Amino acid sequence: MTLPGSPQVAYRSDKLMLDDCAVADLATRFGTPLYAYSRTAMLSALAAYQQALAERDHLICYAVKANSSLAVLQTFAQAGCGFDIVSAGELARVLAAGAAPSKVVFSGVGKTRAEMRQALDAGVMCFNVESEAELEALSSVAVQAARTARISLRVNPDVDAKTHPYISTGLKGNKFGVAHERAVTVYARASALPGLEVVGIDCHIGSQITEIGPYLDAVDRMLDLVEAIEATGIRLHHLDLGGGLGITYTDEQPPSAADLIGALLQRIDARGQGHRKLMFEPGRSLVGNAGMLISEVLYLKPSDEPDGKNFCIVDAAMNDLMRPAMYEAWMRIVPCRLRDEPSVTYDVVGPVCESGDWLGRDRPLAVQAGDHIAVLSAGAYGMSMASNYNTRGRAAEVMVSGEQVWLIRDRETPAELFRGEHLLP
Ligand SMILES: *Cc1c(COP(=O)(O)O)cnc(C)c1O
Repeated sequence: MTLPGSPQVAYRSDKLMLDDCAVADLATRFGTPLYAYSRTAMLSALAAYQQALAERDHLICYAVKANSSLAVLQTFAQAGCGFDIVSAGELARVLAAGAAPSKVVFSGVGKTRAEMRQALDAGVMCFNVESEAELEALSSVAVQAARTARISLRVNPDVDAKTHPYISTGLKGNKFGVAHERAVTVYARASALPGLEVVGIDCHIGSQITEIGPYLDAVDRMLDLVEAIEATGIRLHHLDLGGGLGITYTDEQPPSAADLIGALLQRIDARGQGHRKLMFEPGRSLVGNAGMLISEVLYLKPSDEPDGKNFCIVDAAMNDLMRPAMYEAWMRIVPCRLRDEPSVTYDVVGPVCESGDWLGRDRPLAVQAGDHIAVLSAGAYGMSMASNYNTRGRAAEVMVSGEQVWLIRDRETPAELFRGEHLLP
């Protein structure tokens, strides 16, 4: 029985499998909470983008913030992928994982001067600049360093990505990017400033987008701008359309990367812009469906009242997986071994001292204490958003491929959690 999301996640008889590994065995061997990822699923998600763009000058820059574990970055770097980073920390990570700096773009609204300097010294491909003030700062940092910063302006195309307000980034009144109306003026300023070389234009309209329409609206607006900017004598080598493609958590039916890119290429070609280098910055759609968070059922707490809440208390919590608490995100929760018993409706909650500490509400499950459950599609914005709240060490992580399993991150120990803290004398 396959589950929605990824062919690498399926039941074989009563056992939940990730690739050819029984998930319950991973839990027993490595302990819980445990993140597990299918290398196969990650690589096939990347290949879908690469194949759709095979005939074109292109670069896929994986958005590191979706899952920044070194082995994940290494997997993508080895497959020829570039990276979209948003901090000096992510820069250090991609370099440690073997990325070529010439395939790294640096996004984010609040780059510090120190971060700019580090990225210049590393030789990143491009800074995606998000404001006029940032442009001035980057120019002065580059001049001081006697280097040239290649730049692209992130333009806010003012389109509605029809997604959750917290993850929509392409509408006016949003902190990201330079207003569409100001773009021509800001490009003129950029080309006049010392230490800068204009190389492209970019946008990123949101996340978990499940329709093609908003992308087509955005590309139309971007192409209008490209024409207006080039009419002033500035040459734009690349067009970066950001990330944001959605995945299946429940019954969403996002377009495939092939369908999305096919539709975009058609639009771009129709405008006579097909020669331009194309870039994408997918995060969630490369890793989301490839991962799961595995947890042990600690206690069942049935309600005393007939219509009351039953709680299934597990050893993973909001600090391990923030999405449900932060965005009220619905994530599929399934048992790692199917029981031939009637299911009971539970709120699946963690041990953290917050009422917002839940992983799923009103979920029918047939489980007993000691069983393992898996929260599916947890490969993106799972581990990378994990915290140490309640002095909980972050989970261990494994990568699997077929029957092979690699431990890619040790479980954090309490001593590691307060290393760097000091008692008063
Ligand atoms: C977060 C982000 C992405 C990736 O978004 P996904 O929804 O994970 O694909 C790409 N580009 C920028 C600038 C981002 O901030």
